[in-house]
Amino acid sequence: MKILVLNCGSASVKWGLFADGVSVDGGLIDRVTNHAQALRELMFEFDPSGLDAVGHRVVHGGLRFTTPTLLDDHVVEAVTKLVPLAPLHNPLNLLGIQLMRQQLPDVPQVAVFDTAFHRTLGPAQATYAIDIEVAQENGIARYGFHGTSHAYVSRRTAALLGKDPADANVITLHLGNGASACAVRGGLSVATSMGLSPLEGLVMGTRSGDIDPAVVFHLHRHAGMGFDAIEDLLNQRSGLKGLCGDNDMREVLRRRAEGDERAALAFDVYCARVTEYVGAYYALLGRVDAVTFTAGVGENAAPVRAAVLAGLERMGITVDPAHNEASDRGERLISPDGSEVAVCVVPTDEECEIATQTSDLLTRTQ
Ligand code: ADP
Repeated sequence: MKILVLNCGSASVKWGLFADGVSVDGGLIDRVTNHAQALRELMFEFDPSGLDAVGHRVVHGGLRFTTPTLLDDHVVEAVTKLVPLAPLHNPLNLLGIQLMRQQLPDVPQVAVFDTAFHRTLGPAQATYAIDIEVAQENGIARYGFHGTSHAYVSRRTAALLGKDPADANVITLHLGNGASACAVRGGLSVATSMGLSPLEGLVMGTRSGDIDPAVVFHLHRHAGMGFDAIEDLLNQRSGLKGLCGDNDMREVLRRRAEGDERAALAFDVYCARVTEYVGAYYALLGRVDAVTFTAGVGENAAPVRAAVLAGLERMGITVDPAHNEASDRGERLISPDGSEVAVCVVPTDEECEIATQTSDLLTRTQ
């Protein structure tokens, strides 16, 4: 099956062409300012003949979408209704969908939702402790994101350990520009660090992650900031960028190695938050087979991996410095042989996972 995968994000449009699950072509249109234009340009970059389907990454699927879904007018309308829950993400995903449906009207189009993998969260994890009626009326719940990546990486981790995913408990740490942690029990997401939006949880490139909600009220009342300005502060001017001026972990590491105090603080705040989530998810899972790092920072930044897991020997978690610092690229173990808990690095491949889920859906429905 020939599948085009489209990941229409805020600053870039990623695309990939897959034949029977294998990547055959792909690209990234970077620093996009006009998405419609970028998508039209994309049409010249690949050969659409014989295309069986287009798989779209859609960030927010709300409570309704728990599986990949064939797009028709009704589904597009339902995804549009979710825009208030994901105002920074769903509109761009919808633009991609709209354009591809116009350009390729005879090709089935499938939405694969970032939230879907987390629909197995139990009420204790999915519920925020606020007035339950206010929450229900307004769709306030923990939805979780990066689901495609957590699903793929936890499954690959089980394979790396020679285990059936149904028997493996894994803590997955997706550390990219956005970052989230997930506790996976037997292949199912049971807890995750992002919530109503991708702002909650870990410290990210430009996002704050967890803060006391009172910070928002304080900035509004005492600094005279409007909600749009606060939203911009927490999404674009916080995280690593807010702490030291750089959102790229490579720069943070370089400056820290040169003795830059701000970069060192940014690194420490970033890593400490991940450690806290590892501890919390260990307690939730009870038994952990592996902790797995993925995405740009997780796959490449050995100092981050070492700092995150330092001091967890009593939990059976140890990182072997030589394995950790080796320049390997693929799926690998970085814990000493025979460790109680395996520590793994698994490169994520969200586009491949979207292609697989898209072709699985078509096979089931045809
Ligand atoms: P996205 O969330 O946009 O998919 P990625 O998973 O590609 O992002 O992660 C991008 C981030 O990964 C960069 O901003 C950078 O901080 C980090 N990164 C990439 N390569 C390295 C590296 N060699 N060392 C440390 N950090 C890296």
